[in-house]
Amino acid sequence: MLEVRNLRSAYGRIEVLKGIDLDVQTGEIVALVGSNGAGKTTLLRALSGVQPITGGEIRFNGQRIDRLPPHKRVEMGMTQSPEGRQVFGSLTVEDNLQLGAYRRRDKGIDQDRDRIFSMFPVLAEKRHLLAGGLSGGQQQMLAIGRALMGRPKLLLLDEPSLGLSPLLVDQILDAIVSLKKDGITVLLVEQNASAALAIADRGYVLETGKVAHSGSGSVLLADPQIKAAYLGIA
Ligand code: ATP
Repeated sequence: MLEVRNLRSAYGRIEVLKGIDLDVQTGEIVALVGSNGAGKTTLLRALSGVQPITGGEIRFNGQRIDRLPPHKRVEMGMTQSPEGRQVFGSLTVEDNLQLGAYRRRDKGIDQDRDRIFSMFPVLAEKRHLLAGGLSGGQQQMLAIGRALMGRPKLLLLDEPSLGLSPLLVDQILDAIVSLKKDGITVLLVEQNASAALAIADRGYVLETGKVAHSGSGSVLLADPQIKAAYLGIA
């Protein structure tokens, strides 16, 4: 579904992505992990088209997309749910979800909203409240829900567990697994590497702008070197 070849990106003269190769197959959950500043967020932003690239290729379902503007990539089925929970605070929960579906003209919108409410029941309880009053975890759920309302084929998630309590982290990860069951492919950037690899089919470990390791989630999780370097387990 997604093929990334020799992707490069820089901030000014500082190269931050130094030739990334990465694949995501249809139906997979792929985790992108690595220490702070490794380039994970920059990579997601380059994929969604908001970060300029200086070299390399990105293909989505066989088609070159690296010169397309972000909204074209969204139209093709690739949606990013951003880090930092950018929900519209002065709109209700329901209106935030509705906005996620603004490009759609089909009849499945209400059904998808109900599906999100069953995935995150707290959003259903608070559907008429302003999003700005939600807790951080609830805003994160709403941001994911809003991205899902666009019916993406590939969902790019940046740090969905950032700043959440362990219970909420579990809820978000369960929701990601349930997306896979619904046929949505997920590329997940996570600081919480062990949790991400545990639900991932495959993972990539990024180190200063390069892929340092890749493999199945379980193999990466069990690798002593990776445990020591990234998972905080000696
Ligand atoms: P984190 O988990 O801390 O967000 P990351 O792996 O997502 O880390 P990036 O945010 O992609 O890493 O950052 C990669 C490198 O690019 C870092 O060295 C960072 O300082 C630098 N960087 C990020 N954003 C900018 C920017 N807007 N201008 C200049 N340098 C930046």
